[in-house]
Amino acid sequence: MADGADGGPGAAGGRLPAHPQWCDERFNFQAMFLKCLAKHVPNIYSAEMDPLLEKQEEMVQAAILYPLECYLFGEDPDMFLEKLQQSGTSQLCGKVFKGGETTYSCRDCAVDPTCVLCIDCFQNSIHKNHRYKMHSSTGGGFCDCGDTEAWKAGPLCTKHEPGASGSAKENSEWQLNEEILEHSRRVFPSVIKYIVDMLVWEEEKELPPELTIREKIDSYYCVLFNDEHHSYDHVIYSLQRALGCELGEAQLHTTAIDKEGRRAVKAGHYASCQEAKEEIKRHSENVSQRPLHVEVLHADVMAHQKFALRLGSWLNKLMSYSSDFRQIFCQICLTEEAGSEKPCFISKLMLWDAKLHKGARKVLHELIFSSFFMEMEYKKLFAVEFVKYYKTLQKEYISDDHDRVLSVTALSVQMFTVPTLARHLIEEQNVITTITETLLEVLPEYLDKNDKFNFQGYSQDKLNRVYAVIYDLRYVLVSKPTLWTDRLREQFLEGFVSFLRILTCMQGMEEIKRQIGQHIEVDPDWEAAIAIQMQLKNILLMFQEWCASDEELLLRAYRECHKAVMRCSTNGRSREKTVFHLCGHTLESRPYRVSADPVSIHLPLSRTLAGLHVRLSKTGAISRLHEFVSPEEFQVELLVEYPLRCLVLVAQVAAEMWRRNGLSLISQVFYYQDVKCREEMYDKDIIMLQIGASLMDPNQFLLLILQRYELADAFRKIKPTKDQDLIKQYNVLIEEMLQILIYVVGERYVPGVSNVTKEDVIMREIIHLLCIEPMAHSAITKSLPENENNETGLENVIDKVATFKKPGVSGHGVYELKDECLKEFNMFFYHYTKTQHSKAEHTQKKRRKQENRDEALPPPPPPDFSPAFNNVVRILNCDVMMHILRTILQRAVELETHLWTEAMIQMVLHLLSLGLLEEKQQLQKSPEEEVTFDFYHKATRMGSSALNAVSVLMLLEKLKRVPQLEAQKDTVSWILQMFDTVKRLREKSSLTTVAATSGSEAIKGDESTQDKEKAERKRKAEAARLHRQKIMAQMSALQKNFIETHKLLYENTLEAQGKEDTVMEDESMPSAIDYSRIALGPKRGPSVSEKEVLTCILCQEEQEVKLESAAMVLSACVQKSTALTQNRSRILELSGDTLDPLFMHPDLPCGTHTGSCGHVMHAACWQKYFEAMQLNFRQRLHVEQIFDLENGEYLCPLCKSLCNTVIPIVPLQTQKINSEDAEAVAQILSLSRWLETIIVRISGYSVKNAKGEKQNLPAFANKGVGSSALEFHSILSFGVQSSAKYSSSIKEMLILFATTIYRVGLKVAPNETDYRIPMMTWSTCAFTIQCIENLLETEGKPLFGSLQNRQHSGLKALVQFASAQRTTSPQVLIQKHLIRLLGVLLPNFKVEDTPSLLEVDMFHVLVGIVLSFPSLYWEDAVDLQPSSISSAYNHLYLFHLTTLAHITQIVVSSATESPDAQPPDNSEEARSAQSFCREVYQYTSGCFSQDIPGWHMWDRVKKGIMPYLRCAALFFHYLLGVSPPEELLQVSEEGQFKALCSYLSLPTNLFLLFQEYWDTVNPLLQRWCADPVVLSCLKGKSIAIRYPRKRNSLIELPEDYSCLLNQASQFRCPRSSDDEQKHPVLCLFCGAMLCSQNTCCQELVNGEELGACTSHALQCGAGVCMFLKIRECKVVLIEGKTRGCLYPAPYLDEYGETDPGLKRGNPLQLCRERYRKLHLLWQQHCIIEEIARSQETNQIFFGFNWQLL
Ligand SMILES: [Zn+2]
Ligand SMILES: [Zn+2]
Ligand SMILES: [Zn+2]
Ligand SMILES: [Zn+2]
Ligand SMILES: [Zn+2]
Ligand SMILES: [Zn+2]
Ligand SMILES: [Zn+2]
Repeated sequence: MADGADGGPGAAGGRLPAHPQWCDERFNFQAMFLKCLAKHVPNIYSAEMDPLLEKQEEMVQAAILYPLECYLFGEDPDMFLEKLQQSGTSQLCGKVFKGGETTYSCRDCAVDPTCVLCIDCFQNSIHKNHRYKMHSSTGGGFCDCGDTEAWKAGPLCTKHEPGASGSAKENSEWQLNEEILEHSRRVFPSVIKYIVDMLVWEEEKELPPELTIREKIDSYYCVLFNDEHHSYDHVIYSLQRALGCELGEAQLHTTAIDKEGRRAVKAGHYASCQEAKEEIKRHSENVSQRPLHVEVLHADVMAHQKFALRLGSWLNKLMSYSSDFRQIFCQICLTEEAGSEKPCFISKLMLWDAKLHKGARKVLHELIFSSFFMEMEYKKLFAVEFVKYYKTLQKEYISDDHDRVLSVTALSVQMFTVPTLARHLIEEQNVITTITETLLEVLPEYLDKNDKFNFQGYSQDKLNRVYAVIYDLRYVLVSKPTLWTDRLREQFLEGFVSFLRILTCMQGMEEIKRQIGQHIEVDPDWEAAIAIQMQLKNILLMFQEWCASDEELLLRAYRECHKAVMRCSTNGRSREKTVFHLCGHTLESRPYRVSADPVSIHLPLSRTLAGLHVRLSKTGAISRLHEFVSPEEFQVELLVEYPLRCLVLVAQVAAEMWRRNGLSLISQVFYYQDVKCREEMYDKDIIMLQIGASLMDPNQFLLLILQRYELADAFRKIKPTKDQDLIKQYNVLIEEMLQILIYVVGERYVPGVSNVTKEDVIMREIIHLLCIEPMAHSAITKSLPENENNETGLENVIDKVATFKKPGVSGHGVYELKDECLKEFNMFFYHYTKTQHSKAEHTQKKRRKQENRDEALPPPPPPDFSPAFNNVVRILNCDVMMHILRTILQRAVELETHLWTEAMIQMVLHLLSLGLLEEKQQLQKSPEEEVTFDFYHKATRMGSSALNAVSVLMLLEKLKRVPQLEAQKDTVSWILQMFDTVKRLREKSSLTTVAATSGSEAIKGDESTQDKEKAERKRKAEAARLHRQKIMAQMSALQKNFIETHKLLYENTLEAQGKEDTVMEDESMPSAIDYSRIALGPKRGPSVSEKEVLTCILCQEEQEVKLESAAMVLSACVQKSTALTQNRSRILELSGDTLDPLFMHPDLPCGTHTGSCGHVMHAACWQKYFEAMQLNFRQRLHVEQIFDLENGEYLCPLCKSLCNTVIPIVPLQTQKINSEDAEAVAQILSLSRWLETIIVRISGYSVKNAKGEKQNLPAFANKGVGSSALEFHSILSFGVQSSAKYSSSIKEMLILFATTIYRVGLKVAPNETDYRIPMMTWSTCAFTIQCIENLLETEGKPLFGSLQNRQHSGLKALVQFASAQRTTSPQVLIQKHLIRLLGVLLPNFKVEDTPSLLEVDMFHVLVGIVLSFPSLYWEDAVDLQPSSISSAYNHLYLFHLTTLAHITQIVVSSATESPDAQPPDNSEEARSAQSFCREVYQYTSGCFSQDIPGWHMWDRVKKGIMPYLRCAALFFHYLLGVSPPEELLQVSEEGQFKALCSYLSLPTNLFLLFQEYWDTVNPLLQRWCADPVVLSCLKGKSIAIRYPRKRNSLIELPEDYSCLLNQASQFRCPRSSDDEQKHPVLCLFCGAMLCSQNTCCQELVNGEELGACTSHALQCGAGVCMFLKIRECKVVLIEGKTRGCLYPAPYLDEYGETDPGLKRGNPLQLCRERYRKLHLLWQQHCIIEEIARSQETNQIFFGFNWQLL
């Protein structure tokens, strides 16, 4: 690009890039710098639409940054910075958190919960061993390591400790030299000024003159800005419409806008950009109310703004190197222009923050973090600036629409929570007042005409922004000062008064009026007011605590608060006072009715006053109260009035008088008493009533209560009403009132109300929670209020009151209450909800009954009131109370059934108990004459002079005879005893005995009846116990019967409960008969098979399984599986269209597993069931299905397991061999003879077929096996029989199941005639056996007899099916497959594509050849199969051949291994092995090492062959039904090997097999060994699989969960370089860490976008996989693209609980049992089942798009 027209800049520019002469003092640096920028910046950033980022960066470095750094440092920048870095400059860590990163806080040492550490610092700190919490950062915070004010102990991690890095000492003296500092002072101002100027630049078209060096060209951009109003789709839509661009381009723009905050979407001339701008605005306005924010910017403006940000991050980098740089930077930022009113640079930027786009804000905030926040002194200065502009900043934030993390106001927490800084800001900047005034300025839009808040129709988003201000208030108050200065006191008080103004606007806000007649139309908004109340709760508490820490302050605050309350208590003053009489007492009051007049639940002023009042009482300052509030002003009735109304409202809601006011009121009442609010609502209202009760005349107080509860009439006379509803209403109200009276007198667990500590209070809460039931730690935590530090104080006391019970494999640990705490139980505990109350009562009564004790639950003796509250007890023995008690008792005794309830009586009894307890305690403490509390006296006095008047005591006596109150009898007895005790206490200390003998006798008489009653009760209890025992016995007999008759069902239920069922069906396990236990060869034992009668779970009818009857089927699930793979990196074919599954690779990369839940149905019944489901599905299309009917999926009708097919049950064809015949055959049928026979047979077929079609059968290479007189039919001569005849229904099912295996196993469309169907049948049979063998081994179970019922019946059916399946396929086809399989063993066959010995799994070959072999007996005319004897030989020879081949495999593959240091032995086996090795050495032309010791080779073979032998034993057992030797029913290694050899007719010295068949085997061995693959392996060029194969298990997980979090924090997405939030997940199969739920790692598979997990699962687990979402601590199971579920991670905290989402954040430890459970879930192939089960119960996950996981 050409230089500007005037030569000047060009000349200057020419000097700059190579060697700047900026250092020359003659030049003005700023001017030079700007000239340089003016020249380069527009060039570098010219291609805004499609930038080459790397190129840009290169140019910036070369042209500007490098020269700048050279000038600044005076030497090579890289070397200089390297040096600087090593000097270790800061003790503060200052790492800035990104969203989702894990932060740690120490509960023992952090000053408040906002003090956090990054993972590095945490791992290197002492807090690692403390009680810590871990959480996910929302972004924007930073690590507090090194901040001494944040930590009570251990503020530094070992990394940041001074002297930590080896040579730190000498380096710490290494400082920047004066020259560099001088240069910085020159450079920084210009750089900063440029950044500030460009960021706040508002001209769209022009640049400042210093930067305008060339003629303006008409090049503009249309720039679109990010906002939070428009969704992704809106923006994409608008862009497509406005610019006519492709979807992809629009998406690209939108993503960039979301990330960076703005982006040029069109380049061009001014006019065209302007036009685009209007278009975008117009289109976006169409889809949402607001247009998008679009600007047209000149290209040069864009360029410079971009570069300004680049410079910002350059500075940011520089800041991290040196404290000197930071200080210079901060000084410059804080400099105000002399004499100007303008804010300094940093304030300018702060004030501009809300106008900046996202990307710019990020840079700015990072810069603040890395400079100001790293230097304490400057942090303070910054905080001062911040508070100076606080109001403006907050208002800007509130009207902005970006997230809080993107606002500069989010920095407040970093400053306000630093105690010294907070104090400084209060003292010097009056920050409390500033914040409260900000609130007062932003909230008025919610004020109504009475100047109270009203949040109807509020905007949630806006209010959330207001909360941010409230948070700030909390931060400032987090740490209470220990020392008060006068200034601090004054400023705090000013703030407090200002805060009271906010409370004044809340006092009485959102008044409601009872709705009569009509239901309200719309439920009013209530959430906002309650939410603000929640936000304020801890602030209110903190204000009270601050006040309480200084007596002077407390009294002054109290005066202010009192004044404020009084100002608000004007309501109703205009009304005339009325008079209310009862029992000779009168109350004058202004009329007010909660049920008719407006009432509000919000009374923060009154409640704050109550809070200050108890603190006055606690500190003793209450004695000076009169100095601050004169008694005339005090007016306690007015203070009580509003809280009382609120409690009455609650009572009336309970009495359903406010039904028509809708749900909103119900919710408010709920929160009023809920743990989240109650401390500053309900609890304080009770305290206020206690204040009233202590200061008012007790009778007047009670009259006031009666009147406000609108119950005056109810206690004056009996209303002759028949209105049931009204009576009910009265009763509830009376109950509610009595309850409140109990609380007022009895609830004293508040420091200040009595002399209790905070610990006592928490202990009492916990005791009462645990009285309901044992609870988990988290459940207790949730039910306790949290303080400002999110602590409940639970841990300090829990062990004193409860014992911990550990969890099992599922569930969680719980705390149980210690017995000695039970006596603390108070049935009328004021924090119980109604349900909790009755649950607790029930539990405790039951417990007492079990202990054979009476059921009385009297109140525990309460602690003494503190002096200020002492008078409260007087309400117990005042006249009005006696009247209330007597009235209720009388109604009960007189059986006026409508006017009393049992609950009411319970409360009366409770109040009586409280009165008696009080008197007893007083009597025990002081001499009788001093005790003025005369409850006993009042209660035994007649109520009036009327003739029929009775005392409370007399009423109690009568109460015992009321039948409806049977349950209260014990309590009544207890009270009567108390009466007696109190009476005796009075008598003992007083000589003047009261002549109340008659009463006393009555009681005594009662005592004897009481004893009688006790005896009677005991007798009854005993009788009841005997009766129970009898019933139990009957029940258990019935149960046994039931189990017998429903055995199958029962066993499956057991399994579902996780218990393993080790019983095998009897038929396969005859223990009495001792048949030969050999499965193969002439000595073969008989098949043991009883007739099988099964019950269909659908029609409940029984049927015997027979070849010729209708088919019965087992529900089954076929799935692909990689559970046995030895090589997870192998790429799996996703579709098997071209796959040839005949041979299984020895890696076992992917198999087809068939499992069953073991439930039997008639084939016909199942078909009906399935069709019905399909029909059902079609009719209700909208219902999302858990299962895929199209693919044959259904849920087992009985156990709801997910199934996708059925296995036909084919009966075992029992066979028995006449051993004599067999021996005879043995004489002629040697292995070589047998081989010849089959070779001739095969050749014969080939000849036969060659005539017709073009044949593919092998020409037999006639080598090694001599030809003879054998002919085509010879094979038949050793014995044949006719084939089994299956019923058509069995045949149909055989085909159906085989097709499913083919379809699922190969992921292809079903095709009943495909040639691969038999292959897949054999394959799934072999693979499933291998899986089961593997499972038994890893579980340490014996091979036989330990399978679960479902596994046993599934396997049995599968093997029998596999053997029968052959009959439904063309025999020619089966023969073809057989020949190919034999080709591996008999390399003489020239079959194309025969894999080498090392490329096949031998067990798969074995299963294939055994099952396909009978096809050789096929004749055109007759359907034949080998006779029992023929089969026995066929099996024997086929098995021996495969075994020989397998031994060779093992020998070859372990040849390259060096022997372990084992003592060599010279056993016979070792010698045989040695000679065998020598043979192999010969045939491999020396590739095979001759030096391998025989004993080593024998050891390898013996170990390596085990799994194969075990699989073969399982296979032949299920195929033939021959009982296995006893040893295989136990776990014993040595015994097992011998037993296997015996069962499978093998010599225990396996090498003898070679010797026995040497003539036949020698040529085979020769060929096997000569294979190029084998040779290459022996030469070490390729690696063959070793035997035994490794048994797969889930990856090792670390014990400590934070190690995983650590790993996750290191995780970088492999696809993208940006640092946005990632969701790392760990594959538990292979340990791969993936980037889930993110577009960057989505993959296109078959035209579908799949998330990282889903696409990984396709390869790693053939679609089924198990992941750990690390940041959320959850396991995810997924299957395919559409299904998945969450599962708790196997990590538990010390309370035995999991923590999904790390919500609680307690340290977590690996639970091995649970991890093992997950492992079994995988190895048993039950993941799919688990997903289906979870989806059925948890419908929530339906909406989740698993595909993109
Ligand atoms: Zn750190
Ligand atoms: Zn650190
Ligand atoms: Zn700690
Ligand atoms: Zn049936
Ligand atoms: Zn089932
Ligand atoms: Zn994996
Ligand atoms: Zn990614």
